[in-house]
Amino acid sequence: MKPRVLILGPSGRMGRALLEATAGRDDLVLAAAVDRDGAPGLGGDVAPGVRSTTDLGAGLTACDVYVDFTAPAATTAVARAAATRRRAAVIGTTGLGRDAEAAIAELAAVAPVVVAANFSLGVNVLLGLAQRAARALSDWDAEIAEIHHGAKRDAPSGTALAIARAIAAGRGLDYDRVKRQSRDGDIGPRGVDEIGVMAVRGGDVIGEHTAYFFGSSERIEIAHRATSRSIFAVGALHAAAWAARQPPGRYDMLDVLGLK
Ligand code: NAD
Repeated sequence: MKPRVLILGPSGRMGRALLEATAGRDDLVLAAAVDRDGAPGLGGDVAPGVRSTTDLGAGLTACDVYVDFTAPAATTAVARAAATRRRAAVIGTTGLGRDAEAAIAELAAVAPVVVAANFSLGVNVLLGLAQRAARALSDWDAEIAEIHHGAKRDAPSGTALAIARAIAAGRGLDYDRVKRQSRDGDIGPRGVDEIGVMAVRGGDVIGEHTAYFFGSSERIEIAHRATSRSIFAVGALHAAAWAARQPPGRYDMLDVLGLK
């Protein structure tokens, strides 16, 4: 049986990309679409035989796995509701706080849950490259710059933070102790272990990330540029088909891609 998928937030930027990517896939079936109260398009068909509704209970009952690219409060509420039904999940929402992390842990105890700040193949390969570069060039200054569209709510991006954590891990450092997410005023010289992460916002940029490694008289830049949301949608649906076959637990995109 092909896994039945519930898409959350079908009216959103990622929701629309996910719906488009489900058409033509033969490894899963779109079973339901659930949006927030007042979302555009409620009651209308999002695919043949599938309507956008606000009925989360019915949506979870009708699916084997749900795909969540929404907002942290929705991620928390849906994960709690999914835990009582043991539904698998693919979570791409970023800027998750403690409540969402706790709800995800609760769900991962009873169902497979894939959580990733970025579902593209390229960014996940970049994470590995950045970690190796950080280890090999342990005394070079590491900085990350990210650019996103002006409507993005969280900063720095979850992907930039994932790259920063990969760099810290490559150096055996605790990211929370070496992070520098803003610079303003008389801040003095750069700390030796500091990892800077800077966010730029504007226009309709889908997502760009550059990891810089500054040596003396030379530098390396490892960059990724997304030019379509379809890369995240295709990765998330691949993760959904994969998650439906896994035992309970929390996974990331490196598990899905077999890159660990
Ligand atoms: P968006 O604002 O365009 O869409 C959010 C959608 O969620 C809307 O349709 C909204 O109606 C819906 N929603 C809100 N509350 C809901 C609820 N309680 N139940 C059901 N639906 C609800 O945002 P977006 O640009 O699509 O991004 C969504 C999230 O995905 C953000 O956190 C963004 O950072 C993240 N994102 C992650 C990746 C990745 O690869 N992990 C890629 C792109 C975006």
